[in-house]
Amino acid sequence: IMMNDPVQVQQICVAVRKRPLNKKENIRKEVDVVTVPNKELTVVHEPKLKVDLTKYLENQVFRFDYAFDESSDNELVYKFTAKPLVQTVFEGGMATCFAYGQTGSGKTHTMGGDFQGKSQDCTKGIYALAANDVFKILNSAKYRSEDLIVASSFFEIYSGKVFDLLNNKAKLRVLEDGKQQVQVVGLQENLVECVEDVLRLIQHGNSVRTSGQTSANQHSSRSHAVFQIILRKRMTGRLHGKFSLIDLAGNERGADTSSANRQTRMEGAEINKSLLALKECIRALGHKGAHLPFRASKLTQVLRDSFIGENSRTCMIAMISPGLSSCEHSLNTLRYADRVKEL
Ligand code: ADP
Ligand code: MG
Repeated sequence: IMMNDPVQVQQICVAVRKRPLNKKENIRKEVDVVTVPNKELTVVHEPKLKVDLTKYLENQVFRFDYAFDESSDNELVYKFTAKPLVQTVFEGGMATCFAYGQTGSGKTHTMGGDFQGKSQDCTKGIYALAANDVFKILNSAKYRSEDLIVASSFFEIYSGKVFDLLNNKAKLRVLEDGKQQVQVVGLQENLVECVEDVLRLIQHGNSVRTSGQTSANQHSSRSHAVFQIILRKRMTGRLHGKFSLIDLAGNERGADTSSANRQTRMEGAEINKSLLALKECIRALGHKGAHLPFRASKLTQVLRDSFIGENSRTCMIAMISPGLSSCEHSLNTLRYADRVKEL
């Protein structure tokens, strides 16, 4: 598909990305029920039954700022979602980019790059692509003399608790001071001087994140991973701008609330709560004076800074698994993404 460069940066951008059917799905001859007819539309062909039990397909149509089909690569998705926000951070703003969707839909692939297989290539993920642009701009004529330094942090929110992925999963406390400033106490902020430094942190954080998991999707599907690129003034250490890139927990986990296992149930409730609060917080960005329920979950609490302020921008990429067996989840994902922007 031919796409023009993004013309203006919107405060809230919502995109959808459909991944291709994978090998397993192809082997079991899964039917692809999602089409992307143009760069804004996504259609789910939902199988239904008439009263006389004849089958038919009902087309559920969704419109977003951008719709990416299965032929789109990370670079294209990045260009229209997170890339415009890098400039925001240099202008002293707070930016967030969320990957939302069910487990297996491509959140980690999009954000972190491909961690599967032995190559562990994170250079094509949005984390790395954003970092690359940060250094490009930092070294450009306009900002070379600005005296900004770059640091990164990487943490995980699991069952309402925060763990530092750059410090052995140390459990961190979140404190709110009298001025409603939220602090993640002791969160490691590693200075980075080039994109290679950032890549090392991503690799390290990700290996810490997934270590000890019997199946790649067990723990990480129930946790939110937050990777941050932070700009500070060299002399004072004062915060200039921050870019938070978030690989959200699988949204289907929010439905684990009826599981027989108490722990699973509680984790499910926590995920559900955080995704609902997140939706409200993003919506509030577009409505001055709207209620900001950031205290409703750890995720929204630690991102509070990013939801207030004049110069806060966000993008959400809703990931879709195209198979028939994921149809219900895909519709849930699309409805959620729709609500994020709805006036
Ligand atoms: P999630 O993080 O949402 O659970 P993953 O990113 O781990 O999902 O993706 C699940 C699998 O699908 C992985 O093997 C990943 O490499 C593959 N995958 C995801 N998105 C794409 C894509 N756009 N193109 C090719 N493979 C993809
Ligand atoms: Mg994942």
